[in-house]
Amino acid sequence: MEKINMANPFSGEIRFDEPMARHTSFRVGGPADCWVRPGGEFPAYAPRLLAEARREDIPVFILGGGANLLVGDRGIRGIVLDTGRWAGFSPENSRENGGECIVRVCSGSSVDEITAAAAEKSLGGLEFLAGMPGSVGGAVWMNARCYEKEVADVLVETEFLDESLEHRVLGRHPGDFSYKKSPFQGAFTLILSAKFRLRPRLQEEILREMAEHRLDREDKGHYRHPSAGSAFKNNRSFGRSTGKIIDELGLRGLQVGGAAVAPYHGNIIINNGGAKAEDIRRLIDLVREKVKNTLGFDLEPEIIFAGEWP
Ligand SMILES: Cc1cc2nc3c(=O)[nH]c(=O)nc-3n(C[C@H](O)[C@H](O)[C@H](O)COP(=O)(O)OP(=O)(O)OC[C@H]3O[C@@H](n4cnc5c(N)ncnc54)[C@H](O)[C@@H]3O)c2cc1C
Repeated sequence: MEKINMANPFSGEIRFDEPMARHTSFRVGGPADCWVRPGGEFPAYAPRLLAEARREDIPVFILGGGANLLVGDRGIRGIVLDTGRWAGFSPENSRENGGECIVRVCSGSSVDEITAAAAEKSLGGLEFLAGMPGSVGGAVWMNARCYEKEVADVLVETEFLDESLEHRVLGRHPGDFSYKKSPFQGAFTLILSAKFRLRPRLQEEILREMAEHRLDREDKGHYRHPSAGSAFKNNRSFGRSTGKIIDELGLRGLQVGGAAVAPYHGNIIINNGGAKAEDIRRLIDLVREKVKNTLGFDLEPEIIFAGEWP
């Protein structure tokens, strides 16, 4: 790892054997061999780091807000490239005649913070994301969705490095995105920025809608314990939400070690204090097994498993 020639000057942070529990919303995960969080030099630094890592055959994992991840207790081999300080929001065109406004957002920006920044400028479109943990890059990669809307609904364009580390820009074409799927999954991608189409809206209406979503999340217990949000995807062919299916089988409160199905929400698995990643993974498997054996449904985890597993 020491062979990698880090860009100079470098305003970010680099740590070795960095516990990933510090960087995931589950608060679990073993050490990353090397964790790097560049600052404003990110767009120049990241391609060099990736190219040098590739030359040395060192794997690189891209980290957003860590809000949809379960990192194994053995941690992550190679480099974790944390996008968290590559943040910012810039309107690209003015809104003459009261028309729409395109804004470009750096991928490491917190989703919740950009919804607030848009509201400050009386721009509507991102309200549905208020209160959702994670980064813009992660939300685009996951095509995050809530309150009947998904990121692809407001996405205009994504700037990214592809598997060959070529710089590319992808417009949003119908069919590229679907339920919790984006064209960036399945092959190495580093999302650098995203453009969203926003529309002028009365600021008080924007703020009211955002407050309603935040309150709803609080009522549903989203912030009560460390978790990664929904553990499993919904599947329309099952006729009801995954949360309802898990409730029907009386699985709320089911525990493995320090992990539990939240007593207040069937589709949230929580770290009840002191959970290991292995506890959470075994609980996910147990819930899947019980649902499969009783109803014949195959639940698909929404959580991404990262790092080394026994
Ligand atoms: C309390 C709570 C509530 C939640 N509610 C919702 C919800 O309502 N709807 C929903 O969809 N999700 C929800 N989630 C899950 C999570 O917030 C989203 O999936 C979010 O979009 C993940 O973004 P992230 O930046 O944290 O991604 P991470 O967890 O860091 O990463 C997820 C995946 O994206 C990849 N990735 C991240 N950034 C980049 C990048 N810049 N370039 C390339 N790849 C990248 C990672 O490599 C990884 O494979 C919730 C989570 C929590 C904890």
